[in-house]
Amino acid sequence: MRQSILFTNTLKESPKDEQSKNAELLIRGGFINKEMAGVYSYLPLGLRVLNKINNIIREEMNNIGGQEVHLTVLQNPELWKQTNRWSDEIIDNWFKTSLKNGTELGMGFTHEEPLTQLMKSYVHSYKDLPAYVYQIQTKFRNEKRSKSGIMRCREFLMKDLYSFSRSQEEHDKFYEKSKDAYLKIFERCGLGNNTYITFASGGVFSKYSHEFQTLTDSGEDTIFVDKTKKIAVNKEVYTDEVLTSLGLDKKELVEEKAVEVGNIFTLGTKYSEPLGLKFTDENGKENSVIMGSYGIGPGRLMGTVAEIFNDESGLLWPEAVAPFAVHLVSLCKDEADIKKADDIYNNLIAEGVEVLYDDRIDASAGAKFADSDLIGIPKRIIVSTKTLAEESVEVKQRNEKESVLVKIHSL
Ligand code: ATP
Ligand code: MG
Repeated sequence: MRQSILFTNTLKESPKDEQSKNAELLIRGGFINKEMAGVYSYLPLGLRVLNKINNIIREEMNNIGGQEVHLTVLQNPELWKQTNRWSDEIIDNWFKTSLKNGTELGMGFTHEEPLTQLMKSYVHSYKDLPAYVYQIQTKFRNEKRSKSGIMRCREFLMKDLYSFSRSQEEHDKFYEKSKDAYLKIFERCGLGNNTYITFASGGVFSKYSHEFQTLTDSGEDTIFVDKTKKIAVNKEVYTDEVLTSLGLDKKELVEEKAVEVGNIFTLGTKYSEPLGLKFTDENGKENSVIMGSYGIGPGRLMGTVAEIFNDESGLLWPEAVAPFAVHLVSLCKDEADIKKADDIYNNLIAEGVEVLYDDRIDASAGAKFADSDLIGIPKRIIVSTKTLAEESVEVKQRNEKESVLVKIHSL
């Protein structure tokens, strides 16, 4: 991608109406655009990051047997009435809309109901199970507060997987597998060192749910972390009784602010029973399907990465989620040198390297470096008349101060 044709620019000034670091940096870098409070559009650089995160999630979900679908945003109230989740008194964050004839519709804030209903067409016998179905899809939630940039939006992407199992045992096995897959996802996104499996409130069918909480002062949650055991307890279930049952010692726990980047839940028959998702077992007996739900917010994950990986000059993307692998910054002004810089760009691309090429003629070296720091691509390659005289380029990692001279032929 040539920066001279990239339609976005960087901004020197921080947006006035943003309190969160992630929104400030991502807006200034041209990754996202704020439409209104809690509603953000993704621009070319931002979409590349988001897609990388989505693909990591997709790979790990496919690895544990996930099958991808794409369900609708628009929701039929009749379905949600059957599980008692249509009423605004019970679910306080619905966005609702209506047809021309006045019939009410909902805009999905989660998808247990429609997917359970859909599975009734395909699940009849024990032979049709287990099934693991997921999507990466837009959710709408009328959140009360939205001051954490892309970490808490009113319109946001969610990866939601739902498991359909024949027995508690089969469910538990997948549930444990999903934990490993989740840890792998956060690890691959660069959050491995500060993300903890966290015991949180469970509901009717299990004692606990598990959250994946990443330590950051910008998080809205408070958790108590055992850093040696690498587990944590959410404040909402932090009692002496719970600590004892988990074998945790109060003295080993540190109170931290954190953001919930993912959440897994045992649902049991909470949805399958009222909606009638049943299967016939080996003995011809009818049972309700055992379900689980497994969520991750790719946008929230991206915001969390931005919160953690930055310095006073801008972002420092971990390689796996960076918009590009290389920022090729050309300071060349005359035609022969520009041609050589173009050659370097074309060669890198031919080798399959993802390159953002700052080929702008009119920007100063200082402005280019400031932009490059702000955008935060992990590796910077600088080409100038000076380096070309030695058939070389300067290579600098975003997280290092010094650059090294590297021969062009060994790039
Ligand atoms: P929270 O407790 O933060 O409100 P939640 O427990 O309601 O979130 P889930 O319904 O479990 O969240 O959603 C699954 C995942 O979707 C969350 O772990 C989070 O990563 C993401 N998510 C939830 N709400 C939002 C939001 N408003 N904006 C961005 N991502 C979100
Ligand atoms: Mg939560």
